[in-house]
Amino acid sequence: MNIHALRDAFQERYGVTPRLIVRAPGRVNLIGEHTDYNDGFVLPIAIDRATFVAGRLRDDRTIRVYSAQFDLEDQFDVDTIERLPDASWANYVRGVARGIQARDLPLAGADLLIDGNVPLGSGLSSSASLEVAVGYALQLLNNFNLLGEELALLAQGAENSFVGMQCGIMDQFMAALGQFDHALLLDCRDLSYRTIPIPPAVRIVICDSGVRHSLVGSEYNDRRAACTEAVRLLKARLPKITALRDLSPADLERHAAVLPADILPRAQHVVTEIERTQIAAQALEQGDLARFGSLMYDSHASLRDNYEVSVPELDLLVELARSAPGCYGARMTGGGFGGSTVNLVAADQVDAFVAAIGPAYQRQTGRQLDPLVCRASDGVGRASIK
Ligand code: ADP
Ligand code: MG
Repeated sequence: MNIHALRDAFQERYGVTPRLIVRAPGRVNLIGEHTDYNDGFVLPIAIDRATFVAGRLRDDRTIRVYSAQFDLEDQFDVDTIERLPDASWANYVRGVARGIQARDLPLAGADLLIDGNVPLGSGLSSSASLEVAVGYALQLLNNFNLLGEELALLAQGAENSFVGMQCGIMDQFMAALGQFDHALLLDCRDLSYRTIPIPPAVRIVICDSGVRHSLVGSEYNDRRAACTEAVRLLKARLPKITALRDLSPADLERHAAVLPADILPRAQHVVTEIERTQIAAQALEQGDLARFGSLMYDSHASLRDNYEVSVPELDLLVELARSAPGCYGARMTGGGFGGSTVNLVAADQVDAFVAAIGPAYQRQTGRQLDPLVCRASDGVGRASIK
């Protein structure tokens, strides 16, 4: 992303230079899938792709915002912020502004310009990076102070209520609080977290399968319902539990007879995945990449066989990665039914890895693969002009 070009574009559009430019990253989850809504653990990194927002205050009550990606502008009055009826990109911006106002924080008119290099709609959470970047830009422009966690909650609220997407907190949390060369072991029950260093000798490679199934929403709701039902049934034996988080894999095995055949494997995925995520964080902390990688493969197998949210293209990408040079581990990441895989690859073999997996995937599926090589990056902040 060229900051100078962004500043020039702002100048050209609004006739003045921006007072500031901020950036907020996208994210990818290394392990801990479908654990967030079970009060479990996730282990994401913020990636070195971000949404940038340039801004300055106006002396009226209007916010004007331009998206360079869409070449579209929106305009609204800060005192009467309404949700646009269509699923418009501008609702992410309006929702954040509304969240600021709802907290009785100061909010003046502003000119904003958005650009970025997080791929849109491929599961790397461009939406959260946009919300958090806009929130942070407005925070600096209006001179109020929010902690990272509060900014994340405000951004999540915008997505929940203005966009109508019932996402968890992970994406906004990483956009706000990600750390350079670290993953965060985030406890979704109370939002406490631990930073886990990523050894400098590895890269995170993200492979977008190019597949998007329309089932995502209904299948997601179905899996959530299965988890709720599992907890309800298990409560008969274990009255103190409130979420699958409260069971170990051994507990579940002991009480497996309580669950019907279609629910048991769902619960098995969740309880083993929560345990795997904690063990994986330890392995990463100790620099044991082989162990971490093998837990990634286990996670994928569990998502494929027990949770049944994978698709053949994701399975293929994981199998191709397994035999590609320098790969420690691979798994699908995100909700499933398409989307991406995340791969842990030796830094000095990334080129060979990409050269092996890309053509093989294309040969077998006819789809182009465009792997994204990432490092863990810092959460939201000012973008420096280098
Ligand atoms: P993901 O978060 O995985 O990228 P989503 O569907 O949740 O996918 O969010 C993508 C949407 O976020 C886009 O369709 C658009 O509405 C909005 N968005 C993200 N980045 C930008 C941007 N730079 N400009 C305008 N809208 C954006
Ligand atoms: Mg999103």
